[in-house]
Amino acid sequence: MRPIQMVDLRQQYAQIKDEIDRSIMEVLETAQFIGGPVVNGFSQSLAKYLGVRHVIPCANGTDALQISMMALGLQPGDEVITPSFTYIATTEVIALLGLKPVFVEVDPDTFCLEPEAVAKAITPKTRAIVPVHLYGQSSKMEEILLLASEHNLFVIEDNAQAIGSDYRFRNGQVRKTGTMGTMGCTSFFPSKNLGCYGDGGAICTDDDELAEKLRMIANHGQTSRYSHEVVGCNSRLDALQAAVLQVKLPRLDGYIENRRKAADYYDQAFAGHPNIVTPVRSDYSRHVFHQYTLKIDHTNNPAEVRAGLLAHLAEHKVPAMLYYPVPAHRQKMFAGLGGKEFHLETTDWLTDRVFSLPMHTELDESQLDFITSRVLEYFNKM
Ligand SMILES: *Cc1c(COP(=O)(O)O)cnc(C)c1O
Repeated sequence: MRPIQMVDLRQQYAQIKDEIDRSIMEVLETAQFIGGPVVNGFSQSLAKYLGVRHVIPCANGTDALQISMMALGLQPGDEVITPSFTYIATTEVIALLGLKPVFVEVDPDTFCLEPEAVAKAITPKTRAIVPVHLYGQSSKMEEILLLASEHNLFVIEDNAQAIGSDYRFRNGQVRKTGTMGTMGCTSFFPSKNLGCYGDGGAICTDDDELAEKLRMIANHGQTSRYSHEVVGCNSRLDALQAAVLQVKLPRLDGYIENRRKAADYYDQAFAGHPNIVTPVRSDYSRHVFHQYTLKIDHTNNPAEVRAGLLAHLAEHKVPAMLYYPVPAHRQKMFAGLGGKEFHLETTDWLTDRVFSLPMHTELDESQLDFITSRVLEYFNKM
């Protein structure tokens, strides 16, 4: 059996080495490292895949979120509704821009923003909602978009973990995640579902005017050379990364299938277990399993049981992770922003119970059998 990793990027590279190497070589030979046809070509391919008018590439997913918020003309103190149960980048950029993150609850089954909690958190100062499609399935976009239109709010989808996933509206219309809000942001960090070999990110939008503004902000607020209309930043996807992504994008759906197969295996192995709750697959979104995240339940000491499980797995060289061990509203960085005023019972409840097992495109059955056997053996001995 190959050693088990949380994400096995070497094995994936080995499968596509010839094409990746050739694609990178072409960039080296043209020496067109910044911008140029490879970056534009990839942006167009991604726009086509997602079914969106504009893809604006940038340096990483955090920048994508920041640039999106910069483009909306928000004022210091404006409120932005976001889950606390997410990766820190989502919430950090809100504070960085002098805006106020308003943390709300997620659904304990899907881990995504709870629309009823969003509705309760809306005040006259609210300007935007940032749903995070956590672990790889869509937030309840129909409800969120409805609230946004009722209250005239922007919606910025954090699609860093769910690229390739979709959402089914009640009228049967299906849209890819990241294309339903005012803007959608994604990350090409190596371990993401569509990962490059360094940092990368992108913003999508159907709005022509906004697209122009986003491009301008990502390029020093520049309209024409040395003419700077707004304060921007320098955030680029470089051509070497675009060359990698151009090779991987046509494989994204196949990669998702591999992830879903691994998830099926896990689901079956843990089905009906009294202490292990497998991830819920909502009927309105195709889960792309960026993470396979379970919950420990029906025990008085979930955090303790979980610590024991992780130690047991580590003994057998099975990696497992906590996404995320501390929710945003309990991070020190938000103490000065009134982080303490948020009482998020579900978020805290989940934080004590979640754990994630290895999930990537190259998991084989012997590895999955080994992982699930070690997990089950721990509970049998308990
Ligand atoms: C990875 C991630 C980001 C940030 O992406 P980077 O490319 O690492 O900056 C933002 N939000 C979520 C939910 C993520 O998982």
